[in-house]
Amino acid sequence: MIDRSIDSFIAESLSQKNGKSLRVAVLNRHFPMSIATGFGMIPIRPTLGTTTSAEAVGERLIRPDACPFCKTMMGNALTKKSAWANVDCAIASITCDQIRRSIDRLQEDCGVPVFSVSLPALLSDAGRQWFRQSVREVMDGLQKRTGNLFDRVAAISDYKLRAESASKLRKLILTCKYDPVILHKLVHAWMICEPSSFNKFLDDVSTSIPQKQFDKTIILIGGFVGYEDTAVIKKLSDMSIYPLPLNSTGLDPLEYWPEISNFNNDDSAIDFLCDSIFDAPVHVRTRPNGVMYERLFKAIKETKASGVVLKALTFCDLWYTEKVRMGELIDVPLLVISSGYGEGADAGLETRLETFAEQIG
Ligand code: SF4
Repeated sequence: MIDRSIDSFIAESLSQKNGKSLRVAVLNRHFPMSIATGFGMIPIRPTLGTTTSAEAVGERLIRPDACPFCKTMMGNALTKKSAWANVDCAIASITCDQIRRSIDRLQEDCGVPVFSVSLPALLSDAGRQWFRQSVREVMDGLQKRTGNLFDRVAAISDYKLRAESASKLRKLILTCKYDPVILHKLVHAWMICEPSSFNKFLDDVSTSIPQKQFDKTIILIGGFVGYEDTAVIKKLSDMSIYPLPLNSTGLDPLEYWPEISNFNNDDSAIDFLCDSIFDAPVHVRTRPNGVMYERLFKAIKETKASGVVLKALTFCDLWYTEKVRMGELIDVPLLVISSGYGEGADAGLETRLETFAEQIG
């Protein structure tokens, strides 16, 4: 019942036209969404439509050995379906070669202009300045696209609403007692929907999220887990194992929301918004990425997790190559899953999860 409410809430949100506002797809979390709101745009993370049919369409545009995230994005952008239905333009940081190629195809084959933001892989003071400058260059593009000047007050207000709902959702996830499939869907709704409506929706539904007693907790880490890609989470939950999502479609985007002031000039507000991204928990590609491991060790300790599931998408080398290092560094069992969107219900995957459940006792 509640999952249908979330589906409908997202679908309604995506179909709404807000005056002349342009919808911008923000492909990864390396651009402050509130800045797009400051230009009167509707920023969304296009995390919906992760289906095998969209993937098949996407394969017409990019190589079959691209990851399913890129393929489904291409499929939906080409057919203007799902999260890409009313998208005017996109913002992306180039986290890997597959994203770089996808950006070319989005522009050339799907007619979606893409503004690129550069989040440096090496964290340093110079990198911070470079990132701030890169965001400002994207802002110049957004200003030309919309014809609007940046509205600092709207951006700050948007940030506060996102921070408030991120905090509420994070608390629900950390209690480790709610249905993790529903929480997974709510994280996506948080990334897709306008923050004041999401805040209200979350308040309305939070008391109806089914609760469950779990025997064990494991940490779910890795890359993007699509909205429809719930097979691993569901199977673990059915085995009474709570998968605490530390990944990019879980606690990761909800975690770092420093308190914002009412700045009296645009530059200081923009720098703050940039730093809220730059200082957030380290992405797997950033170097040094020891912070990512410290966060993982802390989560294992605090939740007394019995194991870790590293879920990488097929052909995602960025995450898959961490498996050896992760296996050496953690002192609980590690299960590495490399799966596409069509393989969720695969019997082999179920057997591996059952063997893992036996291993963690
Ligand atoms: S899932 Fe991996 S390969 Fe795909 S876009 Fe993300 S980082 Fe790149």
